[in-house]
Amino acid sequence: MVRENEIRENEVAVEPPSASDAGLVFIGRISTPWTSRMETPRQGRHDGPICRIEIFDPWVLALTGVEAFERLEILYWLDRSRRDLVLQSPARNGKVHGTFSLRSPVRPNPIGTSIVKLEAVEGNVLLVRGLDCLDGTPLLDLKPDRTLFKPIAPPQSGDFQTGDGDT
Ligand code: SAM
Repeated sequence: MVRENEIRENEVAVEPPSASDAGLVFIGRISTPWTSRMETPRQGRHDGPICRIEIFDPWVLALTGVEAFERLEILYWLDRSRRDLVLQSPARNGKVHGTFSLRSPVRPNPIGTSIVKLEAVEGNVLLVRGLDCLDGTPLLDLKPDRTLFKPIAPPQSGDFQTGDGDT
């Protein structure tokens, strides 16, 4: 079963420190077929349904060139997640795992990431497959899949540095 907001056997919640504002802005909104966590995929799939990523003004010009990439990495804010669990029981069987050893949406900063297949760019809207978020999820960022991206800026010394200089 998917978590709504309950705490399960052996799970541990903490009192989180009060949030400090990192200055994040939501740059768009994701539309998906899923309105309930009971039906949303655990992880998106590249043969999954088409989802729509709308980019807000004034960021639309920043889409220039994205159509060259077959796959994009999408970062989104899992806005309906609780944020206070440090031990979680995904299988609801009393066996717990540390939050940072999971890809659960429940985390101190509920950032989700997916590599999606880009199907089309229509003005300020991207049509993609491979998402796993609820309809209306806020968009944080998007960038080319790192395996398809070659830095355009000239190389610098750190690019050639190996582990020999470890401190
Ligand atoms: N692919 C991302 C990752 O690995 O970072 C997210 C994986 S997370 C396991 C996906 C689950 O998060 C969905 O099955 C759903 O239960 C939950 N979820 C999706 N959108 C959400 C939202 N806006 N707020 C809270 N939970 C959400």
